[in-house]
Amino acid sequence: MTFNLLGQTPSTFSNGPGNRYMIHLQGCNLGCKGCFNPESWSFKLKNQVDVFKLAENILEHQPDGLTISGGEPFLQAPALLKFLQTLNNPFPKGILIYSGFYENELQKIPEYSQILSLIDVVISGRFDQNQRVYNSMLSSKNQNFIFSENSKIKNEELNGQNFEIIIENEKIKLTGFPILNKNIRKDLEELGFSIEKK
Ligand code: SF4
Repeated sequence: MTFNLLGQTPSTFSNGPGNRYMIHLQGCNLGCKGCFNPESWSFKLKNQVDVFKLAENILEHQPDGLTISGGEPFLQAPALLKFLQTLNNPFPKGILIYSGFYENELQKIPEYSQILSLIDVVISGRFDQNQRVYNSMLSSKNQNFIFSENSKIKNEELNGQNFEIIIENEKIKLTGFPILNKNIRKDLEELGFSIEKK
């Protein structure tokens, strides 16, 4: 079973508590205005990655936690479920998924309840640029946190917004929250840096 993967970041401190491994799944059709990752929308095959090998690789890294973003991760729900079953959530700071779907939409996805039982938090709902918030891992007021029954991630660990610049293979990768990223990206590009945005 495989993912269509946009990319991965083996270490980030701005996408949930602790030192986290982060993956981005390719493909989203929800079309939020002001989306920070429009290059993630296409459903064309980008990187086909075996979910078992990816899980193995992440476990070898021993991160504090794992963050799964997109694109829209739940559009690859069968592979996502296999991946999470393989990992079996050994992370002290748990697994967090960003989804553009609202809870009532997630509940219609056959794999959703099993997926929720294998993770800690879903950050749920479309990004609405007219309802931005700046003091929480929610990007806009209409979004909400869905905690699994025994979530290892606490509400207060999702309070801040951080932004990171990661230098990898001589490329700069920006990760974190959109309000900061757009300006910094423009400034860095003007200075001649080549930027990979995740
Ligand atoms: S759900 Fe996420 S990836 Fe999809 S359009 Fe909205 S902000 Fe962008």
